[in-house]
Amino acid sequence: NMITLQQCEQWDQADELAGFKARFDLPPNTIYLDGNSLGAMPRHAMERAQQVIAQEWRTDLINSWNKAGWWTLPVRLGDQMSSLIGAGQGETIVSDSTSVNLFKVLAAAVNLQKERHPQKKVILAERDSFPTDLYIIEGFNAFFGKDYRLELIDEPADLKTAINDETAVVVLSHVNYRTGYLHDMQATNRLAHEHHALVIWDLCHSAGALPIELKASGSDFAIGCTYKYLNAGPGAPALLWVNPELLDKISQPLSGWWGHKHPFAMSPSYEAASGIERFLCGTQPIVSLSLVACGVDVFLQTDLQAVRRKSLALTDLFIRLVEQECAEFGLRLITPRDHHFRGSHVSFAHEQGYAVVQALIARGVIGDYREPEVMRFGITPLYLSFVDIWQAVQHLKAVLTDREWDKPAYKTRSKVT
Ligand SMILES: *Cc1c(COP(=O)(O)O)cnc(C)c1O
Repeated sequence: NMITLQQCEQWDQADELAGFKARFDLPPNTIYLDGNSLGAMPRHAMERAQQVIAQEWRTDLINSWNKAGWWTLPVRLGDQMSSLIGAGQGETIVSDSTSVNLFKVLAAAVNLQKERHPQKKVILAERDSFPTDLYIIEGFNAFFGKDYRLELIDEPADLKTAINDETAVVVLSHVNYRTGYLHDMQATNRLAHEHHALVIWDLCHSAGALPIELKASGSDFAIGCTYKYLNAGPGAPALLWVNPELLDKISQPLSGWWGHKHPFAMSPSYEAASGIERFLCGTQPIVSLSLVACGVDVFLQTDLQAVRRKSLALTDLFIRLVEQECAEFGLRLITPRDHHFRGSHVSFAHEQGYAVVQALIARGVIGDYREPEVMRFGITPLYLSFVDIWQAVQHLKAVLTDREWDKPAYKTRSKVT
């Protein structure tokens, strides 16, 4: 039972999400498999950017803080995206970057644990975390948590034994940026809570990629990018969520004026806002922040369960086609086959991975490369079709068959891989 192009065309005809591709403005002759790194541009983002710059900035100037609601944008955007992450109203903000937000919630979590369980001195994370998460923990410990120890596990399965009565905080990526491994959020929260540990979830590779139930799964804290699967635009501010049961018990050290209870009282001393606003710091990049709504708007017209079904169908198809068409080239699948543990990208390791990805990009098939040897293909169901996956694998086969990757130009590393 070989998969054929005709079969892929039939799947496209039956695809309930096929219409969403028109909501994005993608360049011609491109199969974009990197929406997990920088999401595509929602079609109405151009018009919205024009409006923000021409009307809100040029014409309305300072009035826009009130008139256009610039000041309340971080909270309004958080509310707007709440159904995508299983949050309630008033529990999420969009502000700063994922790295900075991790610092804020880590400090809040450690501080709370210092009061509740002062003997707990371990912050637990995965060695294969996206590096910024580990660097932020290291930096935090060096300045504020000298008696805390960062412990790294090598396999998700190690969590079961690694979380113990010394664990203060667990920092995990919901979906691993390299392998695409998906953690069971609820089971992990339960395990951590049995040991009175708090969990910080990094949603960078799951927000907008699959349904998330932060509150129902009993999560404590979450952070994540909006510029990946949520299509908010390059460097757009990041989300930050706190379980409302913790909110009035915690504070965070980047106590800038946006997090003040009465910012325009201009008081000489800090008093934290009562709500999730206490996790704000300072003035936000409003043009970029304004565009976050465009990607979220598109998602609110979809059903995330349908997005997830198509994502799994497309990642299954990608894996099966690579095995069918490229079997002799020694590609090693490093993404879990089990749906329960798979996010929304597929990664194959190959010793010429970097050069292969460059040769694919030259053909208009845009994936990316992550050390060591990993070719990463992001699957975004709203703007990818089954035929796109078929064609992408045909290009991959051609690159490998004709050794197209074997050119000096494809082996020179750019700053961004
Ligand atoms: C992309 C990514 C980040 C990026 O953080 P920034 O602060 O936006 O640079 C952080 N964590 C994970 C898991 C990521 O995938």
